[in-house]
Amino acid sequence: MKNEKISIDYQSFNSFEELLSTDRMLVEKALEATKNAYAPYSEFYVGAALQLKNGEIILGSNQENEAYPSGLCAERVALFYAGSEYPQEEVTALAVIAKSDKTPLLEAVTPCGACRQVMHQTQLRQKKPFKIILAHENGSGFIFGSADALLPLSFQFNK
Ligand SMILES: [Zn+2]
Repeated sequence: MKNEKISIDYQSFNSFEELLSTDRMLVEKALEATKNAYAPYSEFYVGAALQLKNGEIILGSNQENEAYPSGLCAERVALFYAGSEYPQEEVTALAVIAKSDKTPLLEAVTPCGACRQVMHQTQLRQKKPFKIILAHENGSGFIFGSADALLPLSFQFNK
């Protein structure tokens, strides 16, 4: 047996000024999307904005439900909408940002495991990775070049 190591490449930023204008616009759209979050239970408002190759921008926000597992995260709302409305269109980037009334967020929100798996599947489906921008309202955040960076050893039936 031998020890192995997985490393992840990503970029960090401290100000939205550091972002490409297209990425910054996507973060602003994601922030706008937080306004449509339905989160009466967690009071944690997440917005996602994804860019399609055809120029369309799809927004998503978390939608909670009294029966907890019936709700859905912002990222999956946006990705599933894109998949059902534009099944042939490539996702080129996804921005995520969150606001919370209850607990101040210290840094950019990071997607849950289920959303990471769906991001991975989107890449498999389109046979191309997409950029993921995780942002905080204070202007800081992280950029990942691929969903696989966020989910090493992701579930895949046929490796
Ligand atoms: Zn999630």
